[in-house]
Formats: sequence, C-alpha cells, structure tokens
Amino acid sequence: MRAIATAVLMMAMPALAAPVRDPVAGAALLRDRALAENSALAIVTGLTTEIGPRLAASVPEAHARDWMAAEMTALGLAKVHIQTFAVPHWERGVETATTIGPNPQRLMLTALGYSGATPDAGLDADVVQFADLDALKAAPAGSLAGKIVFIDHEMRRAQDGSSYGAFNAIRTAGPAIAADKGAAAYLHRSLATGPARLPHTGVTRFPDGTKPIPAAALSVPDAKQLARLVALGPVRLHLVLTPRDLGPGTSGNVVGEITGTGPDVVLTGGHLDSWDLGTGAIDDASGVAITLGATKVIADAVKTGALPRPKRTIRMVAFGDEEAQGPLGGATYLKGHPEPVVFAVEADFGADRVWSLRSRVAPAAAPAVAALARVLAPLGIAPSPLPAFGGEDIAAAVQGGAGVVDLAQDGTHYFDLHHSADDTLDKIDPQALTQAVAAYAATLWWAANSDVEFRPGPPH
Ligand SMILES: [Zn+2]
Repeated sequence: MRAIATAVLMMAMPALAAPVRDPVAGAALLRDRALAENSALAIVTGLTTEIGPRLAASVPEAHARDWMAAEMTALGLAKVHIQTFAVPHWERGVETATTIGPNPQRLMLTALGYSGATPDAGLDADVVQFADLDALKAAPAGSLAGKIVFIDHEMRRAQDGSSYGAFNAIRTAGPAIAADKGAAAYLHRSLATGPARLPHTGVTRFPDGTKPIPAAALSVPDAKQLARLVALGPVRLHLVLTPRDLGPGTSGNVVGEITGTGPDVVLTGGHLDSWDLGTGAIDDASGVAITLGATKVIADAVKTGALPRPKRTIRMVAFGDEEAQGPLGGATYLKGHPEPVVFAVEADFGADRVWSLRSRVAPAAAPAVAALARVLAPLGIAPSPLPAFGGEDIAAAVQGGAGVVDLAQDGTHYFDLHHSADDTLDKIDPQALTQAVAAYAATLWWAANSDVEFRPGPPH
C-alpha cells in the first residue's frame, strides 16, 4: 500500500530539474511565479491593520520594526536585524482654522510635520496671499509681521508625479521663508490632486536660527475657497495648531537578506515609517510589501532548488524615518554594512503598476538592461531613455557608486491619497500590486545572479 502510494506520488512529480543558472531565464521564471501568487497583499494588509500609522519615533513605529523583523524571518530571509538611529520626535495636536466675520467658515487643514504651534487658545491674524514661492521670496523683509501667509498654487496630475517634485519646496521651504520675514503662520494649498476635502501633510524644515511658526496645508477645495474669499476683500482667520516637539527620539531600519555566494550586494526596500493621518498603505507599506514580496518569491525558488543561490546578496531593508529625514536611513544602513552595494532599486511610489524602466548604470551594462527590458515587456513595462532617479532610501548607496534602476509606478492617482487620511488599504488594486512584485522579483534576480558590473564609475 505504501509502495503504491509512493510510486503514484513519484509519477505525479515532475522530474527534478537543475537550477536555472542564466540570470535572464531566472528573471522570467520569477516574473511568472510572482504573478501566480500574491505575496505582497498579505504584507501590506498585516502592516497597515496590525500596526496602522507609523510616524517616525512614535511607539507604533517601534512596534512596526518588531513586526517587520518577524515577517522577514517568517518569509525565509536570513540575518534579520534592526539598526536604530536618532531622529526628532514630533506629535500632532489640535488643528482648526475659522474665518472671522459675519459668516464664519471652518477650513479643513492639517499641520505640516515639524510645524511650530499657536498658543493653545489660537491666534487671530490677517491673511496675505501669494501666487507662488518666488512671490513670497520677493516680499520685503518685515513686511509680513503678524500675518498669516497663504500660498495658493496648483499641483497638476501626472503619471510620473513631476508636479510634486517641481513644487514641493512650497511645503518644505515656504514656512521658513515666511518665518524669516516675520509671518505669524503659514498656510498652503495641499500638494495634492483630486477633489477630496482632506488636507495632505508632509515635512517642513526650519533651519537652525529660524524659530518654527505654525504651518499647515489646506485641503484643495478649502484653499480654493480661501482664495475666493481673499479676492472679495481682507480675510482674518482664527487659527489653532498645537503640535508638540518632543525632542530626540528613535527610528530604525529592519534588514534581512538572501545570502549570495560572493561579496557584492544588491540593495532593495521601501520605508517603514508613514505619516500619521492614514495608515500609510500606499506610502509606503506598499513599497515595503512589493520589495519584500519579491524577495520572498526569490527565497522560495532558491529554497526549493529551482534557482541557485545568487552570486550577489539580495539585501532587503525596511528603512526608518524617510518622511522627515530623507536619506538618513539609507546612510545608516551603509554605516552598518560595509559590503559593496553594486546595484540598488527601491519602491516608494505607491501600489500601482510599473509602467517604465529607467536606468543609470555603467555604459557596458546597457545590453544587460536591454535583456531585462525584454523580460519586463510582457508586464506592459517599456524602457525609458530618461536616467533613473533612485530615491531617498537608496540615495546614499547610489552616491557611493551603485548602479540604479527605477521601476517607475503609475503615479496618476498617487497624489489623490499621498500623506492624507485617505492613504488606506482599500485604495490598493491587488492585481496592480502583484504586477509590481513580478517586476521587482525579475529585476532583483537579474541583478543579483549576474556578473555584469553595474556601477557607472569607480567606487567612491
Ligand atoms: Zn514615501
């Protein structure tokens, strides 16, 4: 009985094939395996449901690190560990704005990250509107004393998100410019697309020597309303913003790997921290889930012998505090991990489909990139002549000489949700997420199991 069962089982099993050694053939195999399972959805669901918002230096961000370390271990990654680093700790408070006059109107707004505070009772001040940052810069010193500066500037919808890159200094630098000219507070139209009456937060920066003033983003509809009111005549606002600066805190990276046979490293990941208004599902639980999901598909294929151990270590990092500190998580990773990073690709642009492949690699690696493009073509991904941008989390590695590609995701709807309370799991299309996992799994394997020198110049 037992012998018959064994014989039947053996007939049902395919003959044990030798591992696929060609990096391009291996990439195609992983692409198809990733499409057949949905390795990222469970990760993004778990992280955004069991933990939720993950503001840098908060207790939930620390819980997210432990959650992520357990998840990486469960998915088969080796050498899982946490690297902590110091960051400022800031916390949102009460936030309201109301027009003063015969018809008081409540405006929907939210404090920018690291904003200063009004008195608890709020402040009353006149609004001075500017069209853009250059107009604010041109205002004479001291001319804004005691005023609420308001910049009403439109962000346009674009597949590549370029309007955000072009105009985000309105949020990051505008408040400090207004503060230096004596303003009492700063408001701007959210860096956002879409008609939702939800404001979009994000970091703002006050250089040493500039005292932080209260700074907030209005929802797009509320900014338009305020601009119409200003066009009718002087507007005075009652503004209450009571965030708190809690001093130094702790953030951290979670690191795991598929160990290669050689010394080189292929670096990937996304950022674990998020803003506090939503659950950070698209920014950036999705990026962590896409890259970890891709790593999991590779780990499974290596474990079962379908693929050999890669030549280069695939190192997956869930980076700490990207939202406020930008490249610090990536720089901290490099300090603790001296092995050469020869290639890097990060995911930090939501949960939508990858549509474009951009690269910045050694000229001699161009044929290899063309081969990768052929593997990605069935996913609807086209090669772009533009150079890869990289991203904050891998910026330090790229600066150190790593070759880089962008698997550019469709950002047409990204800024409807980004940094707002609407950044939640229900917005994710599981099929689009899976397509992105397939693209990352193929790309990581192609880079890790190849002999190609991707670094554009000598290591720095
Ligand atoms: Zn992000």
